[in-house]
Amino acid sequence: MANDTVKDGLVVSMEYKLTVDGEILDSSDGAGPLQFLAGYGNIIPGLENEMMGMKIGESKSVTVQPEDGYGEFDEEAFADLPRTEFPADMALEEGMELHVTDEDGNHQAAYVAAFDDKTVKLDFNHPLAGAVLDFYVKVIALREPTAEELDHGHVHEGDGHHH
Ligand code: ZN
Repeated sequence: MANDTVKDGLVVSMEYKLTVDGEILDSSDGAGPLQFLAGYGNIIPGLENEMMGMKIGESKSVTVQPEDGYGEFDEEAFADLPRTEFPADMALEEGMELHVTDEDGNHQAAYVAAFDDKTVKLDFNHPLAGAVLDFYVKVIALREPTAEELDHGHVHEGDGHHH
């Protein structure tokens, strides 16, 4: 099996640049190429779908609409929690990212929208919810995942964390 094009089950190493409204928000320039396991939802679907079939060395500009990116901004995706739900010594800050666990045990990222002594308002929208994302991507390398990576559904090498 020749691993010369992006397809499900291969580890893709790519250079990328993310631009929103003409402003570069993220790129691989500093950290080096990003690796992801294709077909496992490691990256947003609108980008992953467009990268399928790309060859090593190929580059592409991809515009991703909110529904295929970080979702539409949801006015309802806010929750008020009692301040006592958070450690008393925790220094809260507007915009800070928190990881919360819902009733089903799912971990979710949330952002502090506002807070006072009694209540903390959390925003469950992704910071890029509602944004049209302009990506430039270039496929640098492709490889087979290790058995463990395939089992976990994500890449272990180079991302600096494991879960
Ligand atoms: Zn893992």
